[in-house]
Amino acid sequence: MKFQPYFDAAVAQIKAENRYRVFADLERQVGQFPKATFRKNGAAKDVTVWCSNDYLGMGQHPDVLTALCNTARNTGSGAGGTRNISGTSHPLVSLENELADLHHKESALVFTSGFVSNEASLSTIGKLLPNCLILSDELNHASMIEGIRRAGCEKKLFRHNDLAHLEELLKAADHDRPKLIAFESVYSMDGDIAPIEAIADLADQYNALTYIDEVHAVGMYGPRGGGMTDALGLSHRIDVVEGTLAKAFGTLGGYIASSEALVDAIRSYAPGFIFTTALPPAVTAAATASIRHLKASQVERDGQQRQVASTIKALTDAGLPVMPTQTHIVPVWVGDPMLCKAASDRLLEVHDIYIQPINYPTVPRGTERLRITPTPFHSETLIAELCDAMLEVWAHLGIDRADEPVRDDFVANRQRIAIHRAGG
Ligand SMILES: *Cc1c(COP(=O)(O)O)cnc(C)c1O
Repeated sequence: MKFQPYFDAAVAQIKAENRYRVFADLERQVGQFPKATFRKNGAAKDVTVWCSNDYLGMGQHPDVLTALCNTARNTGSGAGGTRNISGTSHPLVSLENELADLHHKESALVFTSGFVSNEASLSTIGKLLPNCLILSDELNHASMIEGIRRAGCEKKLFRHNDLAHLEELLKAADHDRPKLIAFESVYSMDGDIAPIEAIADLADQYNALTYIDEVHAVGMYGPRGGGMTDALGLSHRIDVVEGTLAKAFGTLGGYIASSEALVDAIRSYAPGFIFTTALPPAVTAAATASIRHLKASQVERDGQQRQVASTIKALTDAGLPVMPTQTHIVPVWVGDPMLCKAASDRLLEVHDIYIQPINYPTVPRGTERLRITPTPFHSETLIAELCDAMLEVWAHLGIDRADEPVRDDFVANRQRIAIHRAGG
């Protein structure tokens, strides 16, 4: 092929930085969660998956599978078009009503993924508001960064969860100028939570809209699974709630919930919404079944919280460097890309445990980690096995287990990424 050396060089560069990604060939088995079949070089074996974003195992819940299969049998496999052409199916209309209710909003709009929902919504809001200024948390997800970039308006990064810095930036802008504060409720790699109420207070004081990514909280927090805003009774304080149907809800798709006017504007203007085929009705029906189940059932949330606490305690007691977390996300510090990959490889090869390495650019360089996400299905036996396996791997590879330096490094590195991202 022509120009091949350019592609080769690009990949070689990633390899030289020890951040070449190798995907594990996994096949999940309904009824065996969190076990999966792992295949490599013609051989197959069962492994325990400790890093799935199917946080509550809803991807194989009987209600969800029934809705998926019945709808596919009754209405077929695909949507048949964009929303405008012939893709607005009845299950999709029901799903949007369900989502608006979940977040106590007037309206909701479903996209083909959470990535697309952030990219399409943020870019469109930024374009529709004249001379808009977007204030963005420096650790926001790549999909938000893409949307903000495509908005083409001025943006300012505020230091992660730093209210004083956010206020300084808000204060410096003209009061009447349209402003949007974009942030996440639960940060997916560190497991910390934004000061949501205080950000909403600042938004009121300085005349800004608020946009929150609740991707890692919907289904899991709040009495009905409406996310952190639901858990804290703050839904009415946030203008736009964005979420995914692909993580705790176990299916596929993304969405926003907001006022009727804002949703209608995005529906009418966002290319990422308009010019793509709608989600299959079967997938949307499965998502609705999952949301309805989690609105009524607390069992999964309680089970997850319990097994998360148990995992954190077991790893911490064993002296493993669990990073400070406020949520179900349990990052364990490695701090080196090669060691991180080597630890992941050894867990899989020797201990039949799958936890993918988290390296740059998902996290800042020097803060590489293993990101563990316990579910209600990770039993005490599995937790004990994980603990023993990690101790063996840490000893075998000579990874640092010291705790306090870890936290200092962590903070220093967060500051470094701030500078890095502000420059880029
Ligand atoms: C995964 C993720 C998304 C994208 O959601 P998908 O439905 O997987 O496309 C958006 N925001 C955050 C913070 C995420 O972690």
